[in-house]
Amino acid sequence: MLKLDFHPAGRHFLQIPGPSPVPDRILRAMSYPTIDHRGPEFGALGLSVLDGIKKIFKTTQPVVIYPASGTGAWEAALTNTLSPGDAVLMYETGHFATLWKKMAESLGLKPEFLGLPGVEGWRRGVQADMIEARLRADTGHAIKAVCVVHNETSTGVTSDIAAVRRAIDAAGHPALFMVDTISGLACADYRHDEWGVDVTVSGSQKGLMLPPGISFNALSQKALEASREAKLPRAFWSWAEIVEMNKDGYWPYTPNTNLLYGLSEALEMILGEGLDNVFARHRRLAAACRAAVTAWGLEIQCVDPAVYSPVLTGVVMPEGVDADAVRKLIYERFDLSLGTGLGKVKGRMFRIGHLGDCNDLALMAALAGCEMGLRLAGVTLRASGVGAAMDYLAQHESAPRLKAVA
Ligand SMILES: *Cc1c(COP(=O)(O)O)cnc(C)c1O
Repeated sequence: MLKLDFHPAGRHFLQIPGPSPVPDRILRAMSYPTIDHRGPEFGALGLSVLDGIKKIFKTTQPVVIYPASGTGAWEAALTNTLSPGDAVLMYETGHFATLWKKMAESLGLKPEFLGLPGVEGWRRGVQADMIEARLRADTGHAIKAVCVVHNETSTGVTSDIAAVRRAIDAAGHPALFMVDTISGLACADYRHDEWGVDVTVSGSQKGLMLPPGISFNALSQKALEASREAKLPRAFWSWAEIVEMNKDGYWPYTPNTNLLYGLSEALEMILGEGLDNVFARHRRLAAACRAAVTAWGLEIQCVDPAVYSPVLTGVVMPEGVDADAVRKLIYERFDLSLGTGLGKVKGRMFRIGHLGDCNDLALMAALAGCEMGLRLAGVTLRASGVGAAMDYLAQHESAPRLKAVA
């Protein structure tokens, strides 16, 4: 076994926007012995997690669970529903939207990328009116799907998915609607059925607090019908056989048994806290984090307060300061991991994750690490962000459940 050659005292602070810290409860649940994936106990586990995960997506329709990272579930969404050369309308919110678009190209689709010019589009949410106008112009209905990212993890912007649904309906367009909420699920409100989403893509290592390794496609009847006609090659990702076998809690291949134990535990934790409490906790921590950034006198990457992310905050560095050099210093000095700037914003910003198993003092530790590191890096701070965040948390009560046990 690989032996780590050092053991820093105290805990590591994993404050990147995924993977997020895995609670001990989940790690312990995952250490149960691996069982026969064709045996009776497994069927009960399968049925229970397949049922529980629907509550998180707010759907009554099938949810497919893959033993793969989120990227696999992106591929599954596209290959199950589309045919070679199909036009797909995608929206550029940031790096993850860009990667999904590149994947669509690799698969032989014809994605069209809508968005605001330059870095501007990376500071705001999806502009639903642009989608509506483009769909209205597509009178021949050549566009087969509209794909957007709910929580853009590279920037810290959470787009209004219901508004995109309304835009598609207003245009009277029959395109499928696909949404990536890999980092939004179980952090920000998400309603697969109510918002009329045909395929929702998600993953395990963000709001669900699991290690990386499983991912999801939540489906609609329309998506299942499209999958019967779709011509893109698919084998491992094919929904039909999985959905059929899932009816009894099984998979056509060996599923990720121990991660499903973890999922079962995560569902118990999230549904036990209550989804609305989980969302309120995320919003409150995010607001405290933004109070810190504002007090420092630094800019937040998201410039539209209506779409601030409850999952992470992008912190823009002043001209001439390399965000990655600051991150490196903070990691080396304080054992705190922050998210790097991706794509167009590389070196310009870093990201503070405040998702999943995060509480007031975990956030405060992260902010203290940032503040000390920024000072050491020579960045001039207007005031103490730590102080501002403490004030915000003290003035805004935490979720009722925490008070109930106190
Ligand atoms: C993390 C993430 C992905 C990629 O998921 P992997 O599990 O790394 O394959 C895609 N989209 C978004 C929005 C993400 O946050």
